[in-house]
Amino acid sequence: MAITTTSYKNFINGEWAESTSKEVYEVTNPANEDEIVGKFPLSTEEDVNHAVQSAHKAFTEWRKVPASERAAYIYRFIELLDQNKERLGEVLCKEQGKPLKEAVTEVTRGVSEMRFVAGEAVRLDGTTLPSDRRGVLNMAVRVPIGVVAAITPWNFPVLTPLRKVIPALVCGCTAVLKPATETPLTSVIITELLEEAGLPKGTVNLVIGKGRKVGDALVGHELVKGVSFTGSTQVGRNIYETAAKTFTKVQLELGGNNPAVVADFNDLESAATQIVGGCYSNAGQRCTAIGRVIVLDKHADELEKHIVEKVKEYKVGPGMDAETKVGPVVNEGARSTLLEYMETAKDEGAHILLGGRSVTGGEYDKGHYFEPTVISGVTPDMKVAQEEIFGPVLIIIRVSSLDEAIEVSNNTEYGLTASVFTDNMEFGYRFMEDVDSGMIHINNGTISEGHMPFGGVKNSGVGPYSIGGTNKDFYTELKVTYIQHQ
Ligand code: NAD
Repeated sequence: MAITTTSYKNFINGEWAESTSKEVYEVTNPANEDEIVGKFPLSTEEDVNHAVQSAHKAFTEWRKVPASERAAYIYRFIELLDQNKERLGEVLCKEQGKPLKEAVTEVTRGVSEMRFVAGEAVRLDGTTLPSDRRGVLNMAVRVPIGVVAAITPWNFPVLTPLRKVIPALVCGCTAVLKPATETPLTSVIITELLEEAGLPKGTVNLVIGKGRKVGDALVGHELVKGVSFTGSTQVGRNIYETAAKTFTKVQLELGGNNPAVVADFNDLESAATQIVGGCYSNAGQRCTAIGRVIVLDKHADELEKHIVEKVKEYKVGPGMDAETKVGPVVNEGARSTLLEYMETAKDEGAHILLGGRSVTGGEYDKGHYFEPTVISGVTPDMKVAQEEIFGPVLIIIRVSSLDEAIEVSNNTEYGLTASVFTDNMEFGYRFMEDVDSGMIHINNGTISEGHMPFGGVKNSGVGPYSIGGTNKDFYTELKVTYIQHQ
């Protein structure tokens, strides 16, 4: 019997539509290349233009809908999201590869975060200040910026689109979502749920396709007033350049190369547990993954031993298998990049303590599996210490002093998140002050919370932090008004 593959469409002006190109591409399961997840449109500039025009038209009405009514649409959507968490989690697991449990957790995290975001609708506060003049009222009120382009990566294909589209709608903007080419199906389902929640036509649009074509056209479109992008630093730089030409506002959330310092810490086993958890979830493909352990010489042997013991317990396999702790990496390109890093690390004199190879044989041959890897004997200037590896790889750098630990932590172009495990709170505070990082964790992995600002410094990000209360600084702008009332 012939297996039919489902074809999916764009969503523009409240209608599901094929691309004007009529061309499609296939997405396959990273755990099993024989399994086709679906066929998706390769959209064109014309599709982008239709989507932006429809979002622009819808904006004229949506901006006037009272904030609490906008929130009511979103609360309806959140209920639907909650009801669909198992289904969406399964699709996410098959499309992107992460273990099912992590996938469902991503959706439930989305549900709880979006409740906070919906509540923000009635907290879009401005400012009033006393006037210098009698009988004058001075105020600054927030207004939505207009059409927002949401461009998302493949590593959190449920959470990242939600984190952009939902605050845009809550703040009174309309949105065009361009999901990662690798993971469009989760965005199709999210869009279906928004449609079911009754969002007026044109408020949310979905255009699927390649970054260069769809992404470029969106960022350069004169009616797009804000670009919220999460992805690599390189693509972020291109977007920043293009957006500058039209003075389009940006919120760029980029790469990371996150240190975990272990210094004057008694419970090395618990530090190892948190570091390993912070490194290998989502097969290390997290912007906030711990990638570099920076450890004082005196702790290093024992810490390495604990880390290796714990990583050995991480079973590699398909995300749908309940035993799996580390799923496949997203595609073959990602796996070959990891193999290249291994060769470079060895050439530069580092020592692969554990892993370092593809996992092959039997069912593994169908997917893109890579062993959870620990590399020791790394020095701060080696390529594996400098670059964002974005895979299940942890490197260990030994240092001889607290000063050196901070210096090495900062010795990277990135500044997203940084952790320290220490019983020496004086050092903990110093770390907080001297580390160039948007987010800092003292004695606590890298877990962020859904109502706290999230973002990075240096080459890890530009623009208002997303998540939490700071998001409104991106999706709104101020109107300052003086009223003579006497
Ligand atoms: P990517 O930069 O390759 O792609 C991200 C998105 O941009 C995709 O939708 C892609 O199609 C699109 N795109 C590609 N070229 C474009 C162009 N010229 N114009 C406009 N859009 C374009 O990133 P990725 O491989 O999908 O994701 C991994 C990267 O994302 C890592 O560097 C990771 O650290 C980063 N990331 C950062 C955060 C954060 O919050 N800081 C969160 C998750 C992921």
